[in-house]
Amino acid sequence: MLNWRHIRKPQAAEQVSPAVQHLSDSTGSSHIIEVVGVNKSFGDVHVLKDITFYIRNNEFITLLGPSGCGKSTTLRILAGFERPDSGDVFFEGRSLLDIPPYQRQLNTVFQRYALFPHLNVYDNIAFGLNIKKMAKEEIRTRIGQALKTVDLEGYADRWVEQLSGGQMQRVAIARAIVNKPQVLLLDEPLGALDLKMRKEMQIELKEMQRSLGITFVYVTHDQEEALTMSDTIIVMKEGLIQQIGTPTDIYNEPRNAFVADFIGESNIIPGQMTEDFVVSFAQRSFDCIDRRMPEDEVDVVIRPEDIVLTGPNDRTINGRVVSVVFKGVHYEMLVEAGPFTWMIQSTDFFPTDASVGLTFDPEDIHIMAKSTYSPDRQSAQPETESEPDDRNGGDSW
Ligand code: ADP
Ligand code: MG
Repeated sequence: MLNWRHIRKPQAAEQVSPAVQHLSDSTGSSHIIEVVGVNKSFGDVHVLKDITFYIRNNEFITLLGPSGCGKSTTLRILAGFERPDSGDVFFEGRSLLDIPPYQRQLNTVFQRYALFPHLNVYDNIAFGLNIKKMAKEEIRTRIGQALKTVDLEGYADRWVEQLSGGQMQRVAIARAIVNKPQVLLLDEPLGALDLKMRKEMQIELKEMQRSLGITFVYVTHDQEEALTMSDTIIVMKEGLIQQIGTPTDIYNEPRNAFVADFIGESNIIPGQMTEDFVVSFAQRSFDCIDRRMPEDEVDVVIRPEDIVLTGPNDRTINGRVVSVVFKGVHYEMLVEAGPFTWMIQSTDFFPTDASVGLTFDPEDIHIMAKSTYSPDRQSAQPETESEPDDRNGGDSW
């Protein structure tokens, strides 16, 4: 697992005033897109529940969540292929709802490349420009630039069926960027590629986004992909935004148990806080860096890589190793301690049945308010409203 702690500490929550009134935030960045209170149902299925967020100009923003949570529907609303039942979508401060897809400054790249098999690479990319009746010379220049950007110079005459999956996806991206959109929408564009190609393309896409200087709105269900590529991640579940933040924020300060669990491996333990900077769990008290919450009952998150194993002693949580798996970079060990089984990732090896002690630093103890996603509240009703967030406006809307 990546350790984001060494990259940057989370920033304090941003104060955002109603963004539609002035298209910028405390960082001074302008918002190219604002999605405000969007609801969408298909039949009786309420697919998007009061979705509100903004997208900064030139950022790489990712909609991340499990299959069916509403990511593609959100993207299709931005593209204009779906219309929200209520709410609005603004592009540079103007509503997009009555603007047809082809007049929006957005282009979409889908998971399935949707290339024309009977055309070569050049004509696939030229297709939309020909329809717009662009001058042949301009088309040639643009295609040359696009092929260079996606690293396919010299492929113009190839037939689509001669290309690998990765190359086809590059052509699909070239076909989108050749229109010079201000925003590129990418719906799981690497989903059909094998792991190695996907990792390469992740790095290349990020570089492309920087060099083109345009906004990327990226959809994936792969948390590692989201953490690797994004400036900002929007975590969704069941049509609700769960959290919006930088990869560091989301990883280090998950807002609830769902986010903690979805973004990497987590130990989530019920705890109590009755004073600032002290939390009790596993029948012990620990120093921590958080203040008391409105409720005493909390969820405590400790990442597997933040736990250090030692011999058991009276200052550690003591347990027994019940499983050890070598993961290539580290060992993943399960340690049973009382009613809770801990996951620990460590380069130190302790064999099955060893008695061990668990320790961690105060800053590795993350405290979250209880939610319907808390492990001990899993049977509770799902939430019906999104929680306020620094990026979805909270009460300020
Ligand atoms: P994701 O991209 O996060 O996997 P989607 O946005 O595609 O999720 O879908 C969210 C939910 O909406 C799913 O339950 C899906 O079945 C449903 N859905 C999406 N599009 C339609 C549609 N055109 N008609 C009916 N149901 C749809
Ligand atoms: Mg989808």
